[in-house]
Amino acid sequence: MATTTESVTPPKVTETECFIGGRWTPSVTGKTFETINPATEEVICEVAEGDAGDVDLAVDAARTAFCDGPWGKMDARDRGMLIHRLANLIERDLVELGALESLDNGKPVNDSCSADLPLAIDCLRYYAGWADKIHGKTIPVRGDFLVYTRREPVGVVGQIIPWNFPILMTAWKWGPALATGCTIIMKPAEQTPLTCLRMAKLAQEAGIPDGVINVIPGYGPTAGGSIVKHPGVDKIAFTGEHITAQIIMREAAETMKRLTFELGGKSPNIVFADSDLDAAIAGAHFGLFFNQGQCCCAGSRVFVEESVHDQFVEKLVASVKNRKLGDPLDPVTEQGPQVDQTQMDKILSYIDLGNEQGAHCATGGKRFGDRGYFVEPTVFTEVQDEMKISTDEIFGPVMSVFKFKDMDEIIERANKTMYGLAAAVWTQDVNKAHHVANNVRAGTVWVNCYDAFDAAAPFGGFKMSGIGRELGEVALDNYLEDKTVTVALS
Ligand code: ADP
Repeated sequence: MATTTESVTPPKVTETECFIGGRWTPSVTGKTFETINPATEEVICEVAEGDAGDVDLAVDAARTAFCDGPWGKMDARDRGMLIHRLANLIERDLVELGALESLDNGKPVNDSCSADLPLAIDCLRYYAGWADKIHGKTIPVRGDFLVYTRREPVGVVGQIIPWNFPILMTAWKWGPALATGCTIIMKPAEQTPLTCLRMAKLAQEAGIPDGVINVIPGYGPTAGGSIVKHPGVDKIAFTGEHITAQIIMREAAETMKRLTFELGGKSPNIVFADSDLDAAIAGAHFGLFFNQGQCCCAGSRVFVEESVHDQFVEKLVASVKNRKLGDPLDPVTEQGPQVDQTQMDKILSYIDLGNEQGAHCATGGKRFGDRGYFVEPTVFTEVQDEMKISTDEIFGPVMSVFKFKDMDEIIERANKTMYGLAAAVWTQDVNKAHHVANNVRAGTVWVNCYDAFDAAAPFGGFKMSGIGRELGEVALDNYLEDKTVTVALS
């Protein structure tokens, strides 16, 4: 993976309007909103605030592109080539995009350039390869009939993404939608609209026809809600909080939209005494603190077998104390600010709750500095399962460490959550590893690793962590309708 070693100059912001039908336009209402640099609390720029009127225009553009434009008639292989070209352009502009992501989101530029962007490029290339490999079946039936199925694009899709991985979430959403031949109305999160808009510009440069990708920046209930309720939108793919997903589910019922949801988590990271303890400590550290703890699959509940608990905590806390917080555009920075004041305040209030409910704050526990939304990396020990810090998704750099005694106990406690997004287990014993993998109720289980992602490997949640899967072949299904054709032969 690429790494950035030189200091990065703040990038220029050039795209701040709605992108509809291949044109950059102010919002219909003329309203704008501020996007803030979370490291300095300064306004980066004003961005068009899309709403119902802009969504109407975008749906028209997307419908026209789907039904009448070159996209619908294009050979699937050519569609794949355009996705490849988009991936190549993102790669060409990797450092620029990485810096823009860090400016708007606050994540360290080294993470943007060595994780988010390479994964996004890989994702688009993976789905580019699928474009001409999507086909139906011929099916033997009773009687003299030829029965075959066609796999057709679902149509115009609304895609609503959060702020924690703006570039990567854009790629996860665009990849399968473009490969299947859908057209897109995307709403980036109001905190981080800039890189998605820049990617729309690159999509146009790649030759993706106008109207295939439309981007409406704006707020959730207005711009997002208008996409969800619009009768001209066939499907919603959403990543965010389960409470928002429930609103979307209710609002989408009226028009019977297809829905896929990738939601939150409270993932257990289970460390057995027989594990390679140093690797487990590094994995626990990375599994929670990566991206400022703002990961839906963050390993926020770390369960450590009793006999190695104290040793684990001692080494883990030492490593967390060494974490380098600072300017996200400095390549040596390991942890940037949280995305906004709301998130910082929420995290600090959970830290207060942890202290009030009797957990022991082993390190961190405070805001870092007084400018920017930085929170110290925080580890709680002596945490009980019922405490708020154990049950709620904090979405910040706050880890809870628990002790456990045996396998039966740990499976029950790992599953004692409404979420089921991810889990990890650290052990040298293959039987223990598979026992956990088979019995934990989560969409992804990592064995002796954490956050190991690949575009080909499905990702998504059990229970309140979502519906459907992203990535892999299975994600194509989200964007396809199966049509059965029956031909009488006699
Ligand atoms: P987070 O806490 O990560 O911001 P949200 O679920 O609030 O999670 O936001 C994720 C995305 O959903 C954002 O793009 C946000 O604007 C959008 N959103 C929020 N509320 C709604 C809504 N009622 N309808 C559609 N989209 C929404």
